[in-house]
Amino acid sequence: MQAMTHLRHTDAGSALDVEAVRRDFPILKKKVRGKPLVYLDNAATTQKPQQMLDALTRFYVDTCANIHRGLHQLSEHATREYEEAREKVRRFLNAPEAREIIFVRGATEAVNLVAHSWGRGTLQPGDEVLITGMEHHANIVPWQVLCQEKGAKLRVAPISDAGELLLEEFEKRLGPRTRLVAVAHVSNALGTVNPVRRIVEMAHRQKTPVFVDGAQAAPHTRIDVQALDCDFYAFSGHKLYGPTGVGVLYGKAGLLERMPPYQCGGDMIRSVTFEETIFNTIPYKFEAGTPNIAGAIGLGAAIDYVEGIGLERIAAHEHDLLAYATRRLAEIPGLRIIGTAPEKAAVISFVLDGIHAHDIGTILDREGIAVRAGHHCAQPVMARFGVPATTRASFAFYNTRQEVDALVAGIHKVQEVFR
Ligand code: PMP
Repeated sequence: MQAMTHLRHTDAGSALDVEAVRRDFPILKKKVRGKPLVYLDNAATTQKPQQMLDALTRFYVDTCANIHRGLHQLSEHATREYEEAREKVRRFLNAPEAREIIFVRGATEAVNLVAHSWGRGTLQPGDEVLITGMEHHANIVPWQVLCQEKGAKLRVAPISDAGELLLEEFEKRLGPRTRLVAVAHVSNALGTVNPVRRIVEMAHRQKTPVFVDGAQAAPHTRIDVQALDCDFYAFSGHKLYGPTGVGVLYGKAGLLERMPPYQCGGDMIRSVTFEETIFNTIPYKFEAGTPNIAGAIGLGAAIDYVEGIGLERIAAHEHDLLAYATRRLAEIPGLRIIGTAPEKAAVISFVLDGIHAHDIGTILDREGIAVRAGHHCAQPVMARFGVPATTRASFAFYNTRQEVDALVAGIHKVQEVFR
């Protein structure tokens, strides 16, 4: 429904009316240091539309109750809304079944869930987990700790100077001892889109399951876990215009059924005696305790919102912004873009000759421009490119070319300060 108000017909076809969508995001009206906010830190977290905020408020004002246990009407309503949110996520990912959708705290918890539950029961000494050289720490550290615990080996497929996965090198490292492949769909530090379908094909040829970290992909492109044929897929609600503290792990039912619980407590059980506990079925087996009920409902509303606009339309707008920003930034003397893969999504990392990223971030902030400066929780990527840090501008569908122009003007100011 919302989509209709956000569309206008242009010569290029049906495009996004950015000014209309911006009105849905109260924070975008804000002034920062007396300047209009230019929010280009969307890879860290996205801003929230009023429709999502209303869903959160509605839950707490109208339906607040615990789920799955109560017989009273409020509890039934809350349970229905929570389960409807699960169904919305299922559709969003095109997962075959709602029981394959597990609500977690975020992408980080999803990785930890699989590392603990699948990993502890599966890995043997000498086994291998294969990741890529462009992973976020969240998709490195849990595997590293697991491998250390199990006497297994963490192997890393290298990336090119453009920031692309070297597929041949990846395939070489895919051996008979590889028990799992864990790979980002989109790199948060470089913006590179990985060829997940091909990676899955290679891994499945030898029956190795694939975990996909979709934290930076789900907000920008249509995800179809059946087309990808991945075994696990994870994302965070807060990067998809939803609330913080909620995220999703999709897993193929057959795998999830064989995995032991990650956390134990209420709701994940079928029956308990002091001698024995019989665990609940999936997905509840993995949702111990009271979950983030409001968060899941809010995430459902965020998915409604995003789908109302249309992921294809979002991708097209962001692609235009990325191409425009790449062109404009490349014109700045002394600026080097880190991550120049042909397939990229919504992220530009860059360094400026002789100026530290933190200084760039601080000076841009004085202009009301929010970017991220640092290692982006991807220190191995920084090491690969021989830089201590980068400045990262990351886009959402509510960003405009004028905001890219403001960024470019801001970078010129930074250079003047250091001249
Ligand atoms: N993976 C990637 C690629 C990310 O960008 C992030 C967040 N920066 C995460 C995982 C972790 O997400 P969260 O902090 O929401 O758990």
